[in-house]
Amino acid sequence: MSAHDFITGSYAPAPEGADHFSIKDRYDLFIGGKWVKASSYFQTTNPATNEVISEVGLAGKKEVNQAIKAARKAYDEVWSKLSGAERGKYLFRIARLLQERAREFAVTETMDGGKPIRESRDIDVPLAAAHFFYHAGWADKLEYAFPGKTPQPLGVVGQVIPWNFPLLMAAWKIAPALACGNTVVLKPAETTPLTALKLAELFQDAGLPAGVVNIVTGAGETGELLVNHPDVDKVAFTGSTGVGKAIQRSLAGSGKRFTLELGGKAANIIFEDAAINEAVEGIINGIFFNQGHVCCAGSRLFVQESIATPVIRKLQKRIGTLKVGDPLDKNTDIGAINSREQLSRIKALVAAGKEEGAEIWQPDGGLPRKGNWFKPTLFTGCAQSHRIVQEEIFGPVLAIQTFRTPQEALDKANNTPYGLSGGVWTDKGSKIFKMTTGLKAGVVWANTFNKFDPTSPFGGYKESGIGREGGLHGLAAYLA
Ligand code: NAD
Ligand code: MN
Repeated sequence: MSAHDFITGSYAPAPEGADHFSIKDRYDLFIGGKWVKASSYFQTTNPATNEVISEVGLAGKKEVNQAIKAARKAYDEVWSKLSGAERGKYLFRIARLLQERAREFAVTETMDGGKPIRESRDIDVPLAAAHFFYHAGWADKLEYAFPGKTPQPLGVVGQVIPWNFPLLMAAWKIAPALACGNTVVLKPAETTPLTALKLAELFQDAGLPAGVVNIVTGAGETGELLVNHPDVDKVAFTGSTGVGKAIQRSLAGSGKRFTLELGGKAANIIFEDAAINEAVEGIINGIFFNQGHVCCAGSRLFVQESIATPVIRKLQKRIGTLKVGDPLDKNTDIGAINSREQLSRIKALVAAGKEEGAEIWQPDGGLPRKGNWFKPTLFTGCAQSHRIVQEEIFGPVLAIQTFRTPQEALDKANNTPYGLSGGVWTDKGSKIFKMTTGLKAGVVWANTFNKFDPTSPFGGYKESGIGREGGLHGLAAYLA
């Protein structure tokens, strides 16, 4: 067995190639349609090996100011004057170019962030293209989207995104902003800047006018400079609840519009009348998809008491077949944990789970030696007060609890500070309606999980955020 084999090792390795395109050794900042040198640079690594892939510019005050100035100029002189049909043409072009370079984007995303190639290839890149296509269609129809109103763009938008869906989050942010006539300064996450920078190359290929989208790389300080800049009209942030709260405080009284997409602690609720095998597959997908680096991950399972034993046994059996390892291998189910910091956060919460008395289960087998890895993990015997039940772990860790009645499931499921998503598994339509109306969550899936579509608004209740992205609600967030 090689170091990359895990549990079964029963498939021959099928690594996706990375030799059909290049990743530059160094990327400058993308400002005003040009690549602009930064005063310093930082490295981005491949979390499956912890080897350096490339270095990218660290945007400080001067560069952030420059980017906002470029976005303002592009807004005043070009983008706000174009017709919706013209803006739509650029968005269509971007979507098509992204499809043409799909493989390059998928491989880059997997190398920079650690997610399995199967996901970046089949989910991240196609959905990102779908967001550009969808919003291309709206660009010249905004009056029909909001009858009786004369929709106006807001101006310059500052956007900050996380590392779990780097390209997809960039598409969620940029496509509606441009469709509505705004210009953008986007800051990708510091561990996963590469697909946003490649997107900038693609904007150049699409002939997008200079300054309409600017990409500044850096960490939290760069994000802070961007959201607090006085010439930004709207802030769109996706990331942790802690940073979201800090941003909301700093924006108070500024008059800036904002949307915040924050953390989650979704409940998957499975009733005894559900199609059990399908539900088990959905629960596995809900929490182990993208190593659990998903704000809407089904990180809590509520299983009706009468079926708890067989469901847990089936979950363990299925987990035993999951392949953890090389993210570029097409057989891989669970890739690398995005960063050393995230790995230590996961380990700390898992240790707290054990200390507080929950019972841990992990499959046999080893993990690759190099890189950041965590085994798919189940906890049973969890109490509502346990940290693993209350706090977002953002890793492949499922906290399992039981319930007897639908009301008990609802009460327990709603008992967290979050409210982003949820799932219900049952054969009964009446139970679906009871649970979906009772769950305080922005998105609730029934007999499925983690399904996304550009037409469908996404966002949270309570500490999971303010505002929606996608669909008409998402468009409205970029219009006056
Ligand atoms: P994070 O909040 O630390 O970072 C997110 C982004 O904000 C990064 O680009 C980071 O550089 C930047 N940032 C950090 N401090 C900042 C500050 N003070 N001002 C401005 N920008 C700042 O989050 P993370 O740990 O990188 O990402 C994981 C979190 O994101 C999880 O909590 C997850 O639930 C959440 N998330 C939510 C959604 C959603 O749609 N609701 C989607 C993906 C991720
Ligand atoms: Mn990286």
